[in-house]
Amino acid sequence: MNTGSHDALDAALHAIKKLRAGGHVALLAGGCVRDRLLNRRPKDYDVVTDATPTRVKELFPRARQVGAKFGVMLVRKFGHDIEVATFRSDGPYTDGRHPDAVTFGTDVEDARRRDFTINGLFFDPIDERVIDYVDGRSDLEAGVIRTIGDPHRRFAEDHLRMLRAVRFAARLGFEIEPGTAEAIKRLASHLESISTERVWTELEMILTDPTRVQGWTLLMETGLRGHLTPTWPPMRDEDMATQNRLGALPHRPVSAGLALAAALCGRRPDDAGNVCRALRLSNRLSKAVVWMVRSLPAVHKEHSLEIADFKLLMAEESWPDLLELLRGELAGTGADLGPYERVRDRAAAIPAASVTPPPLVTGDDLCDMGMSPGRRIGEILEAIYRAQLNEHITDREQAVTMARKLMGS
Ligand code: ATP
Ligand code: MG
Repeated sequence: MNTGSHDALDAALHAIKKLRAGGHVALLAGGCVRDRLLNRRPKDYDVVTDATPTRVKELFPRARQVGAKFGVMLVRKFGHDIEVATFRSDGPYTDGRHPDAVTFGTDVEDARRRDFTINGLFFDPIDERVIDYVDGRSDLEAGVIRTIGDPHRRFAEDHLRMLRAVRFAARLGFEIEPGTAEAIKRLASHLESISTERVWTELEMILTDPTRVQGWTLLMETGLRGHLTPTWPPMRDEDMATQNRLGALPHRPVSAGLALAAALCGRRPDDAGNVCRALRLSNRLSKAVVWMVRSLPAVHKEHSLEIADFKLLMAEESWPDLLELLRGELAGTGADLGPYERVRDRAAAIPAASVTPPPLVTGDDLCDMGMSPGRRIGEILEAIYRAQLNEHITDREQAVTMARKLMGS
């Protein structure tokens, strides 16, 4: 629980002061330093120190080790978890993603193992001093994404960094330094050798952010677009249409489902489903994406939908996203927004209670009327429910009469 007015920065400061009182170096590191210098709100505050994890545990007896991360302890204060990491240096890489071995090292080594110069800065919050071993400050001021050290080597070590470069460039409105961009173009195909979950994690951050269109454009320009997953081959016209659509979505964070549906809705629903499976999305997210891709043409021709069909669409969890998708699709091609406005107004005129009303008759009712269980019952119930949604029948008596008629036929 978050207690009072102490925020995550206070928690990090607390950890830093305590480490320093214990005779150690302790600094803020990485994303939070970058974001503070850019006057952006950091997602979280990471602390680095020369104290070993054993020593951190002595100073913070309740600190916990972070399972997957080498030498990182979690210190909890004011309801915030702060990662306290011991300075480290990464050994050689052979799997294209993780170092084979990691050892504790110096502050300089720790700065140099990081991916981009703007992510390699430390900040001493007590003396209010930036510590820059990687020329990160000038790149931050110039708006440049540049690898620390040779870009080919750094991307060959860890292929995911190529997507990270795109993500930071898009999000911050930065340029990718030409040598860094060139290396991404050369190595783009290596993306296919890292786990699709990791690709999706980065892609999700790129597409849900308000800067999604810059992100998509950079994916195309760097050639990474062609290697997101083999079941999603690039198609020039379609990818350009996606760019327009993404540019027309609202300028705020959107759901992952809407973002991905906007990228996939020029394809057949089955193909969209294959991409979702290849990216190993959750079932729920895949279903939402495929449903939007399949339903977009139907809402586009809203006038040909019966009320029942319209209500069945409205009843879905992703309905608000489908509306945004329709808007994006129209606005992205410069088309008239009339169809979107008609769908929106038609939906607004339908009372919430009549979108998913409880059925007037149930399977038990039909059995009591003498029907034996089976597929026919399901068909009859569906027909009656549609009539109810269409407001052709409005009470139980009419529903029972309709059931009798259908049972007789
Ligand atoms: P965000 O605001 O998106 O969290 P971040 O810079 O904090 O951005 P994280 O993924 O949280 O990014 O990583 C924290 C820091 O760890 C980075 O700033 C960078 O210094 C380092 N880092 C993360 N991933 C890598 C990587 N794949 N290779 C090298 N350094 C990395
Ligand atoms: Mg972070």
